[in-house]
Amino acid sequence: MASNSRQLHFIFFPQLAHGHLIPTVDTARLFAMHGVKATIVTTPLNALLFASKIQREKQLGFDISTMVIKFPASEVGLPEGCENVSSITSQEMTPKFLKAVTLFQQPLERILEELRPDCLVADWMFPWATDIAGKFGIPRLVFHGKSSFALCVADSLIRHEPFKKVSSESEAFDVPGLPDQITMTRLQLPDYIKDTAETDRKKLMDEAIKSELTSYGVIVNSFHELESAYTQHYSKVMGRKAWQVGPVSLCNRNNEDKAERGNAAFIDRDECLRWLDSKKPNSVLYICFGSIFRTSAAQLNEIAKGLEASGQDFIWVVRKVNDEDREEWLPEGFEERMEGKGLIIRGWAAQVLILDHEAVGGFMTHCGWNSTIESITAGVPMVTWPICAEQFCNEKLIAEVLKIGVGVGAKEWCRWGDDPSTKFKVTKEDIERAVSRVMVGEEAEEMRSRAKELKNMARKAVEEGGSSYSDLNALLDELRLNCP
Ligand code: UDP
Repeated sequence: MASNSRQLHFIFFPQLAHGHLIPTVDTARLFAMHGVKATIVTTPLNALLFASKIQREKQLGFDISTMVIKFPASEVGLPEGCENVSSITSQEMTPKFLKAVTLFQQPLERILEELRPDCLVADWMFPWATDIAGKFGIPRLVFHGKSSFALCVADSLIRHEPFKKVSSESEAFDVPGLPDQITMTRLQLPDYIKDTAETDRKKLMDEAIKSELTSYGVIVNSFHELESAYTQHYSKVMGRKAWQVGPVSLCNRNNEDKAERGNAAFIDRDECLRWLDSKKPNSVLYICFGSIFRTSAAQLNEIAKGLEASGQDFIWVVRKVNDEDREEWLPEGFEERMEGKGLIIRGWAAQVLILDHEAVGGFMTHCGWNSTIESITAGVPMVTWPICAEQFCNEKLIAEVLKIGVGVGAKEWCRWGDDPSTKFKVTKEDIERAVSRVMVGEEAEEMRSRAKELKNMARKAVEEGGSSYSDLNALLDELRLNCP
């Protein structure tokens, strides 16, 4: 608990997607553990995802609660019950969903009017939140859910436009002005960065950057020791005010908390742990591409063949593009041959619980920032398979800067909802090669030992006196001074 006694009241307002909700709820809990009164504002179905966890925190004496606002599904033409990005099943639903979240402005204003908090922490995807907080004379903090590295790379790309100086989509260029030499290709860049067309997404990005500049500052789910050159670049060169408070997933201290993040797990917690307990340390590869992305049957088939060829034990979280496909994506007899060797999870996995188990020795990931930092926190090296958003940047950080992962060979950024395998299929051979490099041999041992060092640093960062612990308290002290 911070030394100064005045209790601050923070409102947390996450975007309605697991990759945003999960770390924001963890951040709210972390703040409550530091003596803050934390109120999470979200819609009914999203509130249900973490209701029992909040209840447990209250019983432990923390001042944390949820306030529910209606999701305006019918107003924008979405079916009732579609309150989370993971319920979007077609490209046409995306603009409707984005429209729906802009309608939260008034309800949020009413909540600020009623509760009169000291600070609003709102997701970066709500650029209008800075003005709303301003109306009530309170600071707005941006919750980014990205690494400092990715924020620095994006800034350099937008500022210097190095991608305009190459003559083909696959020609490499340097991203200028960064602490390390980082090269990228146009293929790896999001369309909202490299294209000039005024799309809704580009407009949102521009507004988000403007609102970040006028906000009080940024909360980052990372820790100084992980990417210190970039946290410094972000504040000293880019002039942003930021607090590194992560890894926020470390507020989940017991198996119950670790297993209950997001949806209900497909496989019972104890069954999953028993399966992992039967395996040798560092022998299991965990495969998961986040909460939203669905893989095509053809690509799943290739992954299955690559896994079998690698000879490694695995836990594979499968989310298919087309649920009608049934099991035709699996090679003939695959499950029988993999009996005892592989566990397929056709639904939600207790990811942090799995990653934290000593049997897990590698993580094949789409490089979403939460998955990346959760893997680092567990000391697990990665097979990187970026798909969309800022995931190609995260791959650079993992494989080239931190040297705790190997790329599977994904080459091209995809719009959310598109099928990357129509552009570029990662082959069985690519998968086998990358998995073997991360799981066995001298190179694997070196990566693992670097990952374990980062794991120790991560845990120290959130302990009393650690860098993230101190950054969080420094933010609270500053706000107490500025919001008397
Ligand atoms: N997650 C999980 N089980 C799953 C899939 C995802 O617990 O089966 C969690 C994962 O631990 C992470 C979040 O969902 O906290 C996914 O966030 P990330 O940034 O990695 O990817 P996104 O889903 O935003 O693409």
